[in-house]
Amino acid sequence: MKVNWRSIPWAKNSFAALSAACECSGITLHEVSAPENDITCYSLNSVNEPHFREEISRAECITIVGGPHSSACWEDVRQYADYVVIGEGEFTLPALIDMIASGSHTLPAGVASKEQTVMPNHCVLLSSYPPFTIVKGYTEITRGCPFGCGYCQTPQLFGRNMRHRRIDDIERATRVFRDVRFVTPNALAYGSDGIHLRLDKVEKLLRSLTGRRIFFGTFPSEVRPECISDASLDLIESHCENRKIHFGAQSGSNRVLQLLRRGHTAEDVMRAYDICRAHAMTPVVDYIVGLPYESDEEQRLSVAQMKEITRGGKVHVHHFTPLPGTPLAGMAARTILPDVQRELGRMALNGKATGSWIDAEVRFFKEDEDQLP
Ligand code: SF4
Repeated sequence: MKVNWRSIPWAKNSFAALSAACECSGITLHEVSAPENDITCYSLNSVNEPHFREEISRAECITIVGGPHSSACWEDVRQYADYVVIGEGEFTLPALIDMIASGSHTLPAGVASKEQTVMPNHCVLLSSYPPFTIVKGYTEITRGCPFGCGYCQTPQLFGRNMRHRRIDDIERATRVFRDVRFVTPNALAYGSDGIHLRLDKVEKLLRSLTGRRIFFGTFPSEVRPECISDASLDLIESHCENRKIHFGAQSGSNRVLQLLRRGHTAEDVMRAYDICRAHAMTPVVDYIVGLPYESDEEQRLSVAQMKEITRGGKVHVHHFTPLPGTPLAGMAARTILPDVQRELGRMALNGKATGSWIDAEVRFFKEDEDQLP
C-alpha cells in the first residue's frame, strides 16, 4: 500500500515529524503534488484549507487530513475527507494507516470518519519520536503552552502542559546540521513549566550543542517578553549565533493584553526592548492589529509602541485572523485605520516593519515559502 504526503509549504515541518513517526512503524510517506493512490495525507491550517477542500473531496484515493484546522473543525472536514486526525499525529497517523491496511474498521483514538469518531486519549512524549529522519526539519524541543492567548491555537492543539524533548535526544538529532534551529512556543521556557523558567536547563541544552551554530530565541523559536532578562540574554550571547531576539507584544494597550490573556504588560515589552538593546541585540517584535477588543485609540497605541520599538529594532505585524477552536474564533477583525495603515506603510518602506496587515493569504503563503528550512 503506497502512502503519500501532499506537499504543502506551510506543513513542511509536520511532514518531517510525521514522516519520522511513520518510519518508526515501517511506513514510508512519499511526497506528492496531487492526491495519488493508495492514501494521501494532508495537514491543513485555516488559511490554506479552502484551497485544498475541492482537491480532497474529488480525490480518488483514500484521504487523511490533520493539522490545526482539522483538529478544530473535524466535524466539517470529515464531510469531504475520508479520515480526520484530531490532535497530534505521531501515534495516530501510523495507527490509522495500519488500520486501513489491515482492512479493520476500528478507528484508533484521535480519528473521525463520516460514520464514527474516537476522540484522542493520549498525548505525545516528544522523546518517544525522532523530530525528523530522512525528511529534514527544524527540531521541535517543546510542545504545549501554559498561556491561553485568545487568538492562538497552540494550547488547544497541544494542551497547557509543556512537554520537552530530552537534551541527549536533541543533541543526537541535530548532529546532522551545522546550523541548528528549534520549534517551540517559547525557547527560554525549555525544561520548565513555562511560567517559572529553568535557565539552568536552557544552559545545559545549549552547552550540549557546542560546536554547532545555534539559533535560539529567533525564528522559529520565539520567546515571551517577560522571559527576556540579563541572565537569559547572557546565555544566548555566549552560546548562540543570532543577534536578533524575536518576541510577541501583540498590542500596546494593557486593557487589550488583559482581554487577550497574554499574561504580560505593555511595560514588560518595553523592558524587554531595553534589555535587548543593552545587550546589542536587535529586538524583532510581533503585533496583531485589528483585534476585536481594541478601540481606535488602542490601535493607535500599538502603533505608538511600534514606533518606539523601531528606533532600535523591527516589528512584524499581522492583521487579526480569527482561528477556529480559539476563544476569539468567529470574532470579526477590526478595520485598520487609514492613519495606522499609512504609519505601517512608512515603517515597511524604511525596512522596519514586515508581515502583512492587508491579506492573510499573502502573509501565510509568502512567509511559508520564505521560511522553509
Ligand atoms: S501565543 Fe504563544 S504564549 Fe500565547 S498561547 Fe500561543 S504559544 Fe502560548
